[in-house]
Amino acid sequence: MRMSSASEEDIKSGKTADVYFGKTVGILSSGFPDRQVIMDVTFSGSEFPFILLSGLNDTLSMLEGKNVDVFAIPEGTLIPNRDIKGIPLPVLSISGRYREFSVMETALLGSLSQASGISTKSCMIRAAAGDLPYISFGIRRMHPAISPMIDRSAFIGGADGVSGLMGAELIGRDAVGTMPHALSLLLGDEEAWKMCAGITNGKKTLLIDTFDDEKFAALKAARLIKDLDYVRLDTPSSRRGNFGNIVREVRWELDLRGYKNVKIMVSGGLDVESVMDLRKAGAEAFGVGTSVASAKPVDFALDIVEIEGNPIAKRGKYSGRKKVLRCQDCRKVSVVPIDAKDENCSCGGEMENLLKPVMKKGKMVGRYPSPPEIRERAMDEMKKGSALLSLVIENGD
Ligand SMILES: [Zn+2]
Repeated sequence: MRMSSASEEDIKSGKTADVYFGKTVGILSSGFPDRQVIMDVTFSGSEFPFILLSGLNDTLSMLEGKNVDVFAIPEGTLIPNRDIKGIPLPVLSISGRYREFSVMETALLGSLSQASGISTKSCMIRAAAGDLPYISFGIRRMHPAISPMIDRSAFIGGADGVSGLMGAELIGRDAVGTMPHALSLLLGDEEAWKMCAGITNGKKTLLIDTFDDEKFAALKAARLIKDLDYVRLDTPSSRRGNFGNIVREVRWELDLRGYKNVKIMVSGGLDVESVMDLRKAGAEAFGVGTSVASAKPVDFALDIVEIEGNPIAKRGKYSGRKKVLRCQDCRKVSVVPIDAKDENCSCGGEMENLLKPVMKKGKMVGRYPSPPEIRERAMDEMKKGSALLSLVIENGD
C-alpha cells in the first residue's frame, strides 16, 4: 500500500503545490511576458511575539538550480514579529522571473512555517529549562516523513539531544533515549534496569514508574544500580495529581538516603509552564515531546513587492526591496528601503543588515552552516535577545 507522503522529488517538481499556482503559470505562459519580480516572505503572527527562524535549508534546497537570487535572515536568528515602527520583517527575499519559482510557494512556506514554529517553541522550552538538559522526544506524535525536520528544528531551538535516529544523523549527534516501559514489562524492573545500565555509554537513566510508586522505585533503582545518573519519571496523567509534589518527594527521599547524585528526569506532556514548575520542584532533565513537535506553525506569506524594478505590493503589504537593520548593541530592529542611507542606531550602536545573500543564480553563496553551528547562533541570539524572551517567560528563580 502506498504511504500518504510526498517524496523530495514530488516536492521539488511542484506536485505538492496548491493548484492555483499551476493555473497561474499556465495563463502567464500563453503569450504574456515572464516578468522579473521580487517576492518577500514576511510573518504576520506566531504563538509568541517573536520567532526563532529555521527551515531555510529546505527552502533553499527547493530553489537551488532555479535562476533566482535569494537574500535571507540566517537560521537561528531570534526576530520580533514587527520592527519598532510596526513594519513586518521580511525574513527572505527572492528575485527572479515569476514563472521560474512561483510554483514553489506552497512548499517553501510550509517548510519555513512549520520548522520555525517548532524551533520557536523549542527555544521557549530551552529558556524554561535554564541550563538543564532538555531532549526532543516528540517525533512519535507527527508523521514519520518529517521526523528529521522536527528533530533538526527542536535542536536548533535549544534541545540538547533528539531521540530520532534520522534526526540525530542530520544534526551530526548520537540519538538520545532511555528505555521503554515495555522492557520492564517484559523482563521485570530489576533485570531491565541492570541490562540498560550495563549497555549505556553516556548517562545512566532508568525509567522507574512502570510498576511501583515513584518514591519507592527511585530508591530501589538507586540502591541497585551503581553510579546511577537519572531516575526518569514518566508518571501517567491518571496517576499524577500534582507532578511537582511527586518530584519534590522523590528528591527529598533520595537526598535523605545519600543519593544526592541521582538526578530526576521528567517527561510526559510537558510544556513551557510545566518545565518551569518541575524545575522549581527539583527536576534536572526534561524529555519534551508533543508540545514542541506539534508547535503552532508561524504564519508566513510570500508576496510580490517589486515588478521590473517598480515597487508594487497588494493591500496590507509593504512594497519595494528592503533592508532589515538590527542594532548590534541594543538589538533594536528597523525595516528600511534598500537605498536608505546607512545610519547608526539612536543608541550609537552599529546597524547590521540581517538579510544576507544566500543564493546567486540558483547557486548557494558560500558554505551553509551545520545544524550545531546554527544552534550555537540561536543560543547566542537567545542570550542577547533575552528581553524578547522575557515577554513570555520569567526565567530563573
Ligand atoms: Zn541601538
